[in-house]
Amino acid sequence: MKNIDSYDFSGKKAIVRVDFNVPLNDALEITDDTRIRAAIPTLKKVLSEGGSLIIMSHLGRPKGPSDKLSLKHIVARLEKYLGTTVKFAPDCQRAKSEADALKSGEVLLLENLRFYAEEEGKPRGLAEDASDDEKKAAKAAIKESQKEFTKVLASYADCYINDAFGTAHRAHASTALIAKYFPEDKMFGYLMQNEVKAIDNVLKNAQHPFTAIIGGSKVSSKLEVLKNLVTKVDNLIIGGGMGYTFIKAQGGSIGNSLHEDDLIPDALEIIRLAKENGVNLSLSVETKVADSFSNDANVKVVPSGRIPEGWEGMDAGQASIDNWKKIIVSSKTVLWNGPVGVFELPNFAIGTLKIAEALAEATENGAYTLVGGGDSVAAVSQMGYADKVSYVSTGGGAMLEAIEGKDLPGIAAIRD
Ligand code: AMP
Repeated sequence: MKNIDSYDFSGKKAIVRVDFNVPLNDALEITDDTRIRAAIPTLKKVLSEGGSLIIMSHLGRPKGPSDKLSLKHIVARLEKYLGTTVKFAPDCQRAKSEADALKSGEVLLLENLRFYAEEEGKPRGLAEDASDDEKKAAKAAIKESQKEFTKVLASYADCYINDAFGTAHRAHASTALIAKYFPEDKMFGYLMQNEVKAIDNVLKNAQHPFTAIIGGSKVSSKLEVLKNLVTKVDNLIIGGGMGYTFIKAQGGSIGNSLHEDDLIPDALEIIRLAKENGVNLSLSVETKVADSFSNDANVKVVPSGRIPEGWEGMDAGQASIDNWKKIIVSSKTVLWNGPVGVFELPNFAIGTLKIAEALAEATENGAYTLVGGGDSVAAVSQMGYADKVSYVSTGGGAMLEAIEGKDLPGIAAIRD
């Protein structure tokens, strides 16, 4: 693996996987170009060092070629940010001559990789009543043609850069498989470098006390996260909708609060593992409850284990917030994933806001604080705290899988 800062790009062609999966409106205009801007430092680095660029990405979930999901819609915006002309290759598999013709400082954007099923390596168009044998044969066929697809992309360039953290948990042609064609010339882009560093800071090199705050709606979607973290952290704060399954598991009354009865054995197992590992598991002790799921509902504050019938837990109460704040501000590493209340409704956003505030205070005290994945990222940005924490991850699913302790194929392919 090489480093983008020390690699000599002069006269070289770099094929760069970025995440240009931006939202487009009906007029096919970009409504949020955060992802394009996020890739610019890497792209500019190659150009400023005398290299040329072949940029590749997916856009949406096409089932084949689609005008609506063409990357030609983003050419003008990319030109604006790069300050140079961007050539467009309308077929990512037939761009060899355009790639060969690139001169130092020039840029070629390939059409949406997912116009080809080979990018993901999953068969398309299988009949619904296909037999198991037919499915197996189709899978084998696409895996075979995926090799050729990957080889063609690799043939365009001298080095490979992966800067698409949003797809790092996928073993696709452009995100992982292509790396093997560049054993001595593969590297992370700056965005990936930052994400990888953030993951390592919390999962490999955490300073203690290490606190994780896991919120959100369901235990089922974060079970692997909890199982992984319970062996690593000193404090595990479980809040939001998923907290009520834990409170019920311990015999509390939770009224109409969100919960998953079938996950109660898992919740008990997490509680047991916390004890076994000497982890301070901190659940909500006080809850703001409402008599309906609405911003204008009647509300009151009750102990979390004594929620009356007809009422549901919507946000953390002050006593919970006080407990959690104390833990967070005295931590040296903090990882936060998932809001601790229904933050989309202003009357139930206070708990989540206070967590963001506590993270900001911990950061000021010198702690490393990571907001990793999903709705907590939206919350921290909306609430104006994104630049007051150490790092806000850009990849939802990818970050979640990293926190689950999985080796992400996009990262492993570069590091191995
Ligand atoms: P997740 O995607 O699992 O991180 O869940 C995020 C969602 O959890 C947000 O839409 C929140 O509104 C929701 N959430 C947080 N706390 C609660 C709660 N007490 N009751 C219902 N939903 C909640």
